[in-house]
Amino acid sequence: MAKKQFKAESKRLLDLMINSIYTHKEIFLRELISNASDAIDKLYYKSLADGATGLNRDDFQIFLAADKDSRTLRIRDNGIGMTQEELDQNLGVIAKSGSLKFKSENEKNEDIDIIGQFGVGFYSAFMVSDHVRVESKAYGAEQAYCWESDGADGYTIRECEKADHGTEIILHIKEDTEEEKYSEFLDTYRIRSLVKKYSDYIRYPIRMEVEKTRAKEGAENEYEHYFEVETLNSMVPLWKKNKNEITAEEYNSFYKEKFYDWQDPLKVIHTSAEGTATYNALLFIPAKAPMDYYSRDYEKGLQLYASGVLIMEKCADLLPDYFGFVKGLVDSQDLSLNISREMLQHDRQLKLIATRIEKKIASELKSMLEHDRENYEKFFESFGLRLKFGMYENYGINKDKLKDLVLFRSSTGKMRTLKEYVQDMKEDQTCIYYAAGETPERIAHLPQTEAVLDRGYEVLYLTDDVDEFALMVLQEYEGKSFKNVAAEDARVQTEEEKQAAEKQAEENKALLEKMKTILGERVKDVRVSTTLKNHPVCITTDGAISMEMEKVLNSMPG
Ligand code: ADP
Ligand code: MG
Repeated sequence: MAKKQFKAESKRLLDLMINSIYTHKEIFLRELISNASDAIDKLYYKSLADGATGLNRDDFQIFLAADKDSRTLRIRDNGIGMTQEELDQNLGVIAKSGSLKFKSENEKNEDIDIIGQFGVGFYSAFMVSDHVRVESKAYGAEQAYCWESDGADGYTIRECEKADHGTEIILHIKEDTEEEKYSEFLDTYRIRSLVKKYSDYIRYPIRMEVEKTRAKEGAENEYEHYFEVETLNSMVPLWKKNKNEITAEEYNSFYKEKFYDWQDPLKVIHTSAEGTATYNALLFIPAKAPMDYYSRDYEKGLQLYASGVLIMEKCADLLPDYFGFVKGLVDSQDLSLNISREMLQHDRQLKLIATRIEKKIASELKSMLEHDRENYEKFFESFGLRLKFGMYENYGINKDKLKDLVLFRSSTGKMRTLKEYVQDMKEDQTCIYYAAGETPERIAHLPQTEAVLDRGYEVLYLTDDVDEFALMVLQEYEGKSFKNVAAEDARVQTEEEKQAAEKQAEENKALLEKMKTILGERVKDVRVSTTLKNHPVCITTDGAISMEMEKVLNSMPG
């Protein structure tokens, strides 16, 4: 039978696996167990939804078997299995994990090593094996198929015998070398400790025949070996464990593996609630916005579990758009297991949970802002624009939820909240001054900015297009209105100044009229300014909309 070739990207990932450094190799077991668990999830969910499989939760298990003589390690599940086409499609190409894409983007950065940090998937089997055989029978199918490969030079698929549905992966473990003792992966103690380390929370029993010793009956100081099937994992999912039993390392690796990130999260939010809504939630704020975060392609959502069973990979209804950066999962016993997606959208319980989750995220952000400013500013750098947009979108309906979470650049050189601005206002100051422009430097040199700064007032420097929209929907903060330094009435004039200006205007009336005629349509009026110091002339607006905002509005489609 002709060998099929791996797709080009898959080949590269395989190379990466085969040549990976030894210390990372142990994670292959975590990957294969996680696939087995996913496959059982799929069948279990199906059995709950259809109710026709006759399978119970207790029927599911993942079974490991090591045999030193034949150097094989088997990982068997009774999950949903794969058809011939699925074997070809799922194992012939690199799956969703996207790790390879990541690698090529960061090839230059030697410090980042993906294999140690990332969910690398099925191909990790080739880190420890020189031959991999996958026997699989799809649930409900008659015929089983077997996928086989030695690695880089392709794979074959043919029919095989297999009694039950599910998948069995048979690894032929590589021979030991001087430095690399692959035999350890055939050792049941070593395997048990790897399962404990990486897969303890898997919610189906991972069982293995373990060799044990006991004192021989009737004989003193004599021992005998025997085998016993042992369940290796505690099966308590991480989010159901006590917070104080979980290390930062456990949270971080859980996040990276599950949500395909290579960096530790900036913040972990582990929370639970009881009463009107009962749930556990494990949420993460990523350190950096994903590449597509500010594009239409970005899909927000949390994993949704009903009593420990994954029912939806990305439940968008659990997060408001402006908190769409949050990754994580929610597990609730209030939700029915066989609820359809359409029904979920209208589910009152889900709405209640979503409201709670939103409040929790907001309060955690607030506490981070107050107690961990440095990290908050990092967070804001990645996700702040979206928060500001959240204030503005939907006619500002969410502005009050977000107004204390947004930061603005300011003439102080620091990032400032509106609260901080108002707290530090001068005694005679009545409004919150802002100026818009491309960079803080440019804004600082605007003549109108200088005039306000001269009075000792702080000015917010709005450098993002959305900044001004956010302030506009807010209209005021703690009773203080916002004033663009470029607006006609922004300069604070004394009576004498006013009179002097009027006099000057009177004296220069002819000149001003002449200028106005020349400029024509382009200006509304030409006046004598009282605020200019170093600049001969400035342009101002007197409407609610600044020049910068006019530019944005004009560039918007429709
Ligand atoms: P990922 O798990 O991120 O999708 P993997 O490389 O680990 O990527 O697996 C690729 C695909 O192969 C899976 O998405 C799944 O469809 C299929 N697969 C792997 N292992 C099994 C298994 N034990 N049972 C059924 N399908 C499997
Ligand atoms: Mg996987």
